[in-house]
Amino acid sequence: MQLFEMNRRSSTLKKLLFVGWVLLLGASANANANASASASAQDEVLANELQLTGELTQGSLIRGTLPVGSEIKLNGKNIKISSAGDFVFGFGRDAKLNHVVEYRLPTQSAFQKKTLTLSAREYDIQRIEGVAKKYVSPPAEVTKRIQADNRKIAKARATVSDLTAFQSDFILPSKGRISGVYGSQRVFNGQPRRPHFGLDVAAPIGTAVVAPADGVITLVHNDMYYSGGTLIMDHGMGVSSTFIHLSKIHVKEGEVVKQGQLIADIGATGRVTGPHLDWRINWFKERLDPALLVELPSAGSVD
Ligand SMILES: [Zn+2]
Repeated sequence: MQLFEMNRRSSTLKKLLFVGWVLLLGASANANANASASASAQDEVLANELQLTGELTQGSLIRGTLPVGSEIKLNGKNIKISSAGDFVFGFGRDAKLNHVVEYRLPTQSAFQKKTLTLSAREYDIQRIEGVAKKYVSPPAEVTKRIQADNRKIAKARATVSDLTAFQSDFILPSKGRISGVYGSQRVFNGQPRRPHFGLDVAAPIGTAVVAPADGVITLVHNDMYYSGGTLIMDHGMGVSSTFIHLSKIHVKEGEVVKQGQLIADIGATGRVTGPHLDWRINWFKERLDPALLVELPSAGSVD
């Protein structure tokens, strides 16, 4: 419940353009303060060369622009920047809280340095004691298959394209009940399981899955061991969406798709307990929270 509240605030926040450092607001600011900050920010937009959109928190995708010909580094590593000055990076579930951004305009000889401080997330952790000691691991004969699946997924997520579709607003790819959130984790008998990294939308098999933003399809697989029908699309410069447990996929690898276009149907394939879409967002290997990018339906709503 707490996480839903936070996500709702975040999706309001992402409507605003955050400029520079002063206006990268945490989730605690109220909506009115944000609105007036945004209005007064309009004047600063022209004066401030570095523009960032996103919430400075763990799991967040940060999108930005700099003047044409600029360079940017994150924690000492070069970040790809488009010919128009677009760039993007993301912070994982348990990312450290302090990061250093350095950027240099074409007119400057030295890099300017800024520190980004993330807010720490509180994830939904369920501690369950007294779980039977049955260790659930996949049967040996499927190990090779799982490794092959993982290699294909890793390859698709390593795609570096010049697309800048990630700069647009994203939309929720399916209608349904939000049945699982990013970052949640179960701890059985004190042993943490793998956290959940997707946003789950529960809906009947056959429910439409549409593209949350423009992009190019980089992976289509109808039967992966864990994820079943699996689709990955590239939104540019390392940002990808992954959709899993699909019953049907309507697009092919290499296909260019537009936001809102039907790409697949919800299913219950792979290792699942019921039909749902599990939608993930990555910046390369970093697993990010899709809920920070979209408006979520209010709890219990099916529209
Ligand atoms: Zn899921």
